[in-house]
Amino acid sequence: MQFHELTIPTSERRQAIDVTDRIDAVVADSGTAEGLCHIYVPHVTAALAVNEAKDPLVMIDVLDHLARLVPADGEYRHRCQDDNADAHVQAALLGNQRTFFIRNGRLWLGTYPRIFLCELDGPRRRQVWIGISRG
Ligand code: ZN
Repeated sequence: MQFHELTIPTSERRQAIDVTDRIDAVVADSGTAEGLCHIYVPHVTAALAVNEAKDPLVMIDVLDHLARLVPADGEYRHRCQDDNADAHVQAALLGNQRTFFIRNGRLWLGTYPRIFLCELDGPRRRQVWIGISRG
């Protein structure tokens, strides 16, 4: 397994950042022709999503819908220090890890899927950990 780490600075409290090209570059540099690319976000108020980027309004819709499901002013028990319970719950719904195929030395995602880092309590500096396995 090869490990890599990306640092992604975010600029808003909530935003979706397309990280597909950065991850695909790591895959290409790894020299792995066929294998798996594991992606893990080591945070509890950020997450990963797979969706379309051709229309940027799709991910805005996803984040807006999450905010309606889990509003910032909702009733939560987690109120210590940071007052960000909505971000914790939204991150739990999205998840913080995914595995993708590597084929012909590149991510094999299909035509429309892109990989997004979802910032839910920014702005912060976020990490994306990447593990690449051959075979
Ligand atoms: Zn918190």
